[in-house]
Amino acid sequence: VDLDLVVIGGGSGGVRAARFAANLGAKVAIVEADRFGGTCVNVGCVPKKLFVYAAELGDCASDARGFGWEFGEARFSWDVLRAGVADQVRYLNGVYEKLLTDAGVRIVRGRARLVGPQAVDVGGERLVAARILVATGGRPVVPSIPGAELGVVSDAMFDLPALPRRAAVIGGGYIGVEFAGILAGLGVETTIVAKEDRLLVHFDRSVSLHLGAEMEKEGIRVVTGSQARSLTRAADGIRVECGSGTVDADLVLFAVGRRANTHGLGLEDVGVALDARGAVVVVDDDFRTTAPTIHAVGDVVGRAQLTPVALAEGMAFARRIYGGSTGVVRYENIPTAVFGRPNVGTVGLSEEAAVARGHDVVVFESTFRPMFHGLSGRRARALVKLVVDRPSDRVLGVHVVGDDAGEIVQGFAVALVAGATKAQFDATIGIHPTAAEELVTLRTPKRP
Ligand SMILES: Cc1cc2nc3c(=O)[nH]c(=O)nc-3n(C[C@H](O)[C@H](O)[C@H](O)COP(=O)(O)OP(=O)(O)OC[C@H]3O[C@@H](n4cnc5c(N)ncnc54)[C@H](O)[C@@H]3O)c2cc1C
Repeated sequence: VDLDLVVIGGGSGGVRAARFAANLGAKVAIVEADRFGGTCVNVGCVPKKLFVYAAELGDCASDARGFGWEFGEARFSWDVLRAGVADQVRYLNGVYEKLLTDAGVRIVRGRARLVGPQAVDVGGERLVAARILVATGGRPVVPSIPGAELGVVSDAMFDLPALPRRAAVIGGGYIGVEFAGILAGLGVETTIVAKEDRLLVHFDRSVSLHLGAEMEKEGIRVVTGSQARSLTRAADGIRVECGSGTVDADLVLFAVGRRANTHGLGLEDVGVALDARGAVVVVDDDFRTTAPTIHAVGDVVGRAQLTPVALAEGMAFARRIYGGSTGVVRYENIPTAVFGRPNVGTVGLSEEAAVARGHDVVVFESTFRPMFHGLSGRRARALVKLVVDRPSDRVLGVHVVGDDAGEIVQGFAVALVAGATKAQFDATIGIHPTAAEELVTLRTPKRP
């Protein structure tokens, strides 16, 4: 055995684990088939958020008028944005590589395959290590419907040669909602099609319904309870047959879920069990798989497909195995944001989830026009909601729809992790004038 650890996959989880393990004295190699930084840096969080900023900046010219500003005619260049984002991503690829080399991690480029419980093959080179960490992430699913080849997945959105005039986004999850917002903000006529009765079906119902209504105010066509059945080339673009009707578009984006990158890795041959969705099964707090020398973190396990979760798992793995730590990753109260149009921020339980878990809940909810939109001329309304456990007064869930929702909820997540009660929310003095202060001034229950 030459190495203590071989990490497969240089994304969020793999890089974090490799660095921490090396810093704790382990001899580590990391194998990456593509660009360092993985999904998040290359085709996820980072370029996506930069696109979101671009879309939001498009509002400035019109919003500013109500505040007395008059700018010339606003024009947008997709080429400038795309090139700027690509530069930023390249810069981050370099940062990630430097973090690894500075920590003494050996970088191996190529596609890895397991050839034994302690052996990995990369293009003919054999790496042997006491342990192997699988951090290969996931990839977007293409639905098996006729004409699917006419659509694209999120990976392609970062390198579109040109912006389409009309777009159809298939899928009402967070990636669909975000891209619908980006496209609409950049001036594309956008329709989002969700098979469920509302967008973001895993989120609180009030959040979903409020979001859908606000997206429509922003000019996005929201079609729910409808599933894309086929795509055909039409005289002018692509026609999506949705059961309830058709949507014509020049670009069709499938945002219908992601699948773990386990195919072709040789996992089953070395005794690593996969679940029904093809994700790696992890059996203990060390992220051990059913093969004792092989561990897995991040989207390939798929407990919560978020970068900070992959980071936390990678770090916990390294600290537990190489640093003697007993810390475990806690999966309750993971805050998350959807950078849609408008934004959503959420932490803890939805009202429905709280009720399903048997809580006797009290719900506080308010919608209001944020001060900014008094002058922006937009009819946007924000929503704040608290789900409270009546017997203990513990706040179980905090939900926000509106500008900066993610920034707001990150702070409230600390309160939830600390077990804050509604009485403690009430005892907190607000910051005026902000939207966030609405969360500490909710006095009258909406339900029951
Ligand atoms: C469009 C989009 C937007 C997102 N936005 C957010 C967001 O705003 N916030 C957030 O928290 N999360 C977001 N995510 C999710 C986030 O990107 C992932 O949760 C995170 O990247 C998972 O990290 P990971 O280390 O598990 O895998 P990844 O980052 O996917 O890294 C896996 C790496 O393994 C490599 N690899 C795979 N197979 C092999 C092999 N056989 N050999 C060698 N290398 C291999 C891949 O090339 C890749 O670099 C987004 C995802 C998408 C798709």
